[in-house]
Amino acid sequence: MDLTFDRQHIWHPYTSTLTPLTCYPVSHAQGVHLYLDDDTPLIDGMSSWWAAIHGYNHPELTQAAHRQLDKMAHVMFGGITHQPAIEVCQRLLKLSPPNLQHIFLADSGSVAVEVSLKMALQYWQAKGEPRAKFLTLRHGYHGDTFAAMSVTDPENSMHRLYKGFLPEHLFADSPQIGFWQNWQEHDIDDFRSKLIEHHKQIAAVILEPIVQGAGGMRIYHPEFLRQVRALCDEYGVLLILDEIATGFGRTGKLFACQHADVEPDIMCVGKALTGGYMTLAATLTSKQVADTVCSGEAQCFMHGPTFMGNPLACAVAAASLALIEQGSWQTQVAQIEAQFAARLPTFHAYPNVKDTRWLGAIGVIETQRPVNMEVIQALFVKLGVWIRPFGRLIYLMPPYISAPEHIAALLDAVAVALQTPDCFQSIDQ
Ligand SMILES: *Cc1c(COP(=O)(O)O)cnc(C)c1O
Repeated sequence: MDLTFDRQHIWHPYTSTLTPLTCYPVSHAQGVHLYLDDDTPLIDGMSSWWAAIHGYNHPELTQAAHRQLDKMAHVMFGGITHQPAIEVCQRLLKLSPPNLQHIFLADSGSVAVEVSLKMALQYWQAKGEPRAKFLTLRHGYHGDTFAAMSVTDPENSMHRLYKGFLPEHLFADSPQIGFWQNWQEHDIDDFRSKLIEHHKQIAAVILEPIVQGAGGMRIYHPEFLRQVRALCDEYGVLLILDEIATGFGRTGKLFACQHADVEPDIMCVGKALTGGYMTLAATLTSKQVADTVCSGEAQCFMHGPTFMGNPLACAVAAASLALIEQGSWQTQVAQIEAQFAARLPTFHAYPNVKDTRWLGAIGVIETQRPVNMEVIQALFVKLGVWIRPFGRLIYLMPPYISAPEHIAALLDAVAVALQTPDCFQSIDQ
């Protein structure tokens, strides 16, 4: 592969043209393995950012893509429908919280979030009571497009870079009580008082249920979410749950909101929807919200991307949801969680470890010092694993099909890195 060309001309996520970092050439992938150009296998610990839950090149997903490709790759969704869209939506409705009855197919997670925010704005417009603020949590992440960024943590998404253009929303303190800790009532105080003070302007609360992902890999107590739902009901504010990272079993429940037994008014899914094959996301809402939106001035929901409902993506997503329905994810995720629970606490023996936490097939090690990306990445590759940390976070979210020895290999590699001082920046840097 022409890595020099790549370095000179191709932007990767959050990279600089001035100081490009090393990129590793992957030529194919199979099961839990990514294969480098020279056929070196790496055990995947990332599921390609939460997505490849069934592993790579899964026979049923690959077959679904081939079969659909021979019929049609794409056709417009305006005035036309097709079996792959119908099938994926039927399966999605069957799995989702029962109050959600209408589905908007979006092209990526960020777009699904944009769509959810537009739904909430149109809802209040239609009720003759326009509202333009959203209430969310610090350390949240909802995507990189503008409206999604405006409800993402102000520090992490660098709101000051786009000041004057980004709408300013309301941020409540993020939950401090962890999933496995004892609940304490004061954790919800800041959220409650911001909601009470501003509820007449707030179109919706938007947050990631139970796990705050890219904004810090924080795993919080279900009672927080339960009280958020109750407060939204009490003050008449819509609740949008962004299940883009947590959906489809990752946290040990099909959707993370089930840890708190709550239903959202609007829910966003993406990432694992196609089992990591294609980009596809969806925004689901209740009949009451959908019908209200469509009774307003515009008399319809105002969104319709070119590649909406792409048949190829829908066909693979339908096959992925069929695998989910078979249910083996439950024992697989529980097995991974048990391995994390047994091993992660032992990492506190290393002085650089500040905290460890886990839930379902998510394992997190927070370090005292930020990683040295080039060095730690090279070490992981040398050890035969693909783990991509950021800042002070080394985290694992492997494919559900990972065997105990794969998880052990990932954890062993993390242990080696934690004992290698060069993998971390020195304190004074
Ligand atoms: C990844 C992510 C998004 C954005 O999805 P993209 O497909 O990257 O646009 C939104 N919300 C959450 C919680 C995510 O993890």
